Order: sequence, then C-alpha cells, then structure tokens
Amino acid sequence: MTVQARHPQLLRLTDPPIILGHQCIGCRRVAFPPDPYGCERCGSPREDLEELVLEAQGTVRAVATVHRHHQPSPATPFTVAVIQLTGGPVIKAIVAGAGVSVGTEVEGVLVQDVEDAEGNILVDLQFRVMT
Ligand SMILES: [Zn+2]
Repeated sequence: MTVQARHPQLLRLTDPPIILGHQCIGCRRVAFPPDPYGCERCGSPREDLEELVLEAQGTVRAVATVHRHHQPSPATPFTVAVIQLTGGPVIKAIVAGAGVSVGTEVEGVLVQDVEDAEGNILVDLQFRVMT
C-alpha cells in the first residue's frame, strides 16, 4: 500500500502542497493545468514549456455550494471555489470549512481521498480559509 496523489502529474505531496504548472519559454505565459500540445498564447511547441512550481495559495473569485452531485464522493453539501492562485492561473477546487466568500484568501491542504483497487491511498488537494 502506498500513499500517492490522485493526479501525481499536477500535485506534489509536500508541506505545504505544491501545484505543478508550466511556463512558456517564449512568452512566459503561466498555465495550469499544463497544456499537452504547447503554448496556447504564442504557439510554442510542448518542448518549450518548463515545469513551474505554483504555491497552493490564492484568492477566491467565485464560490458555490454543491447540494447534488453525480458521484458518491465528496459527500454533499460541499463548497467549490474559483481560486486565482498567487502565481497567476485560476483553478476550481473544493474549499473546506466555513467563511468562504469572494475575496477570501485560501491555502491548499492535502486530504486523504479514497483507496484505489489495489488498496493505495489517494490524496487530493483541497483549500481552506487562511487564518
Ligand atoms: Zn508562449
């Protein structure tokens, strides 16, 4: 049994957690998730994109509470926010706890999600309000 990120190509299980994006060598555009085919802005090929470490920290730009969901996990209700990361890209993620509103500063936390078919524990990234 191992503990691993649900999306190991996007997340490092460090403390604090790190999000993996990329930056274009040509135009310096920062993107998350990484583009599989090359830079969306200047058209540079995939080989001209460098891995970029992004802090799992940012500001809430929009927030919604989900009451019905087509999957058993996460259990409803839960809060989803559009978060502008400190490093630039905008992501959608679950924010745990109360007190989340537009403008709230949030930080990433690792949560144990589910076990896969081999019994490995999958860890995912959520956010919480910064104290
Ligand atoms: Zn570019």
